[in-house]
Amino acid sequence: MTTTPRDTTPGAPEARQRVIGMLGGMSWESTAEYYRLANELVRDRLGGLHSARLVLSSVDFAEVEQLQVAGDWDRAGRLLAAEATRLETAGAELLVLCTNTMHRVADQVQAAVGIPLLHLADATAAAVQAASLSTVGLLGTAFTMEQAFYRDRLAGQGLRVLVPGADDRAAVHRVVYDELCRGVVREGSRQVYRQVIDRLVAAGAEGVVLGCTEIELLVGAADSPVPVFPTTRLHVEAAVAVALDGVPVG
Ligand code: GLU
Repeated sequence: MTTTPRDTTPGAPEARQRVIGMLGGMSWESTAEYYRLANELVRDRLGGLHSARLVLSSVDFAEVEQLQVAGDWDRAGRLLAAEATRLETAGAELLVLCTNTMHRVADQVQAAVGIPLLHLADATAAAVQAASLSTVGLLGTAFTMEQAFYRDRLAGQGLRVLVPGADDRAAVHRVVYDELCRGVVREGSRQVYRQVIDRLVAAGAEGVVLGCTEIELLVGAADSPVPVFPTTRLHVEAAVAVALDGVPVG
């Protein structure tokens, strides 16, 4: 992939955007945000009627969730790798896996295609570093909070990662699958998340990674005494930077 910066002035021949390949549906509630945000960012950058060049493959989340619960990550990886291949065939020039949790199989997905996968944890770590913070609390699914793949990726970028205690992890996880992935946003759950964030801050978190793409549908900066890092928005911002400016991936 070429990484030469290009003139994105509307109408300029160099203004051609790289096509973003979104692998979503996990859940579609957050993929809709990816789609909306990408288009808003491109419109804001290029003006006029400009919108994002992208192709989307949206899976049936029920299938993926069953594989998660069964711990069959290899099969889930094969499923997503096949979708990534479809996106590449459809013209995608970079790949965005629209879920933190399924970055558990990011290597398998990347290995299936010749286009670069823009890793969500890397985009997040870059934002945390840009804010000059080093210790973050991590909210996400139990898979993301408890397994090593995501925490290690953040730690690999020099961050110290704190996760909530067991009861808080269970509550955060339940709200994701039982509510947010079903389009349900409850004030009571927002209060629960606020309390979990407060406990992370008391434990030393200088910022909080909203490490599940639906969480920013529930909480934001106003719900936290420290900066929050909304991974859907950060991922889309990074993808649009690659698509418009040729920022290198990885
Ligand atoms: N979208 C969520 C995430 O970012 C959870 C759904 C999933 O398991 O993919 O982790």
